[in-house]
Amino acid sequence: MRRPTSQLMKGLIPMGSSVTQSPMKSQNKRSFPQEMKGLSKIEGIEPDKLTRLFKAGRVVIPSNPRHKTLKPCAIGEGLRVKINANIGTSPDYVDLDEEVEKTRVAIRYGADAIMDLSTGGNIRDIRQRIMKACSVPIGTVPIYEAVCKTAHKGGPANMSSDDLFRTIEQHARDGVDFMTVHCGVTKQTSASLVKHKRVTGVVSRGGALLVAWMRQNGRENPLYEDYDYLLEMAKEHEFALSLGDGLRPGCIADASDVPQIHELIVLGKLVERAREAGVQAIVEGPGHVPLNQIEANVRIEKAVCKGAPFYVLGPLVCDVGAGYDHITGAIGGALAAYFGADFLCYVTPSEHLSLPTVEDVREGVVASRIAAHAADLAHGRGSAWDLKMSKARRAFDWDKMFSLSVDPERAREYRKKRKSHSPKVCSMCGDLCAMKMVDDLLK
Ligand code: SF4
Repeated sequence: MRRPTSQLMKGLIPMGSSVTQSPMKSQNKRSFPQEMKGLSKIEGIEPDKLTRLFKAGRVVIPSNPRHKTLKPCAIGEGLRVKINANIGTSPDYVDLDEEVEKTRVAIRYGADAIMDLSTGGNIRDIRQRIMKACSVPIGTVPIYEAVCKTAHKGGPANMSSDDLFRTIEQHARDGVDFMTVHCGVTKQTSASLVKHKRVTGVVSRGGALLVAWMRQNGRENPLYEDYDYLLEMAKEHEFALSLGDGLRPGCIADASDVPQIHELIVLGKLVERAREAGVQAIVEGPGHVPLNQIEANVRIEKAVCKGAPFYVLGPLVCDVGAGYDHITGAIGGALAAYFGADFLCYVTPSEHLSLPTVEDVREGVVASRIAAHAADLAHGRGSAWDLKMSKARRAFDWDKMFSLSVDPERAREYRKKRKSHSPKVCSMCGDLCAMKMVDDLLK
């Protein structure tokens, strides 16, 4: 196995460690089996079943022992659909307090995981501050920081593979629970971009950086070439891999094209190698997908990646929702989750337009939370929540309705905005309130 040459890398892998150990023996030490009981209770499934799914790699529990504030959560087959909120600075906007506030708001409105995608300011400081405020699994994309840190060398092409692996190790030591690594962006898969012309080319930031790096250096993607090394590092530091879709389609016209599927086939093989090495792996998916292709996208991932948890970005079901892409993403997310996607990455109203604000994060999380819950209901999970809400509606118990709403503050604001002359009903129908009329008649 070829390893990066950095002195910092030496001694990282303990003597005698083996990537051929069985998944059962080598899975995440912190979450298995101690937390399996608690998680099975939360998910409403038998502990034995959850353990079986976890051992088979169909459920992942991202849980880095160094993330001290973490309450682990399980993601995958047969479980409640989970949602992720991306936060983080950009080169244009760096406000640490705002990112911490975004973390709090995202968790408050139902995010099951947070990804810090910071690319501006002191990225490590920001990550550490966010982690302290973060009780849910936290993910990162280490190549962003690796490239930012080596900017003084004159651009992404001058980042060495050691720079990249050193950054991954730092993220692991800081307690990151899962990391997006675009291992499927290879010389071969990116070559198919040339043959199969796209409207929007490469839209993944990590994917684009790696395509540029490979072209300019004439070398293979280090995350692919040194994948065994990455696996050893993931096993040693107990973080999960989120195999990124660096060649995901960025518009409806490019959906489900050859580069996307070609990369997915590579990811499927990498999932198997991760499982053999006892490393947890999630697979990331698109992107922009029309409604009629969503089922196929989920089924192909589940078949090619042997049931690995599928983590989709949206997907956005049309390209023209600018300003409302939390809605286009939620429509796609609901359908994807209905067909078996396990983990939805939210989309905010500022998608394609600007760095999200705290309010955008709230809107994005709520939209995604509704999409996930809609799919859960269709799978026979979580209906007690809706039943309570319906009973509160029937009883005109407005405070209870607010407390049961996915966004209680927003519900309360709307109720106040246009009051009815009758305090019991709302101003939509006033005295013609259907439920009240029937109640009065039956009395
Ligand atoms: S007034 Fe109309 S909208 Fe409002 S609670 Fe009654 S039936 Fe529902």
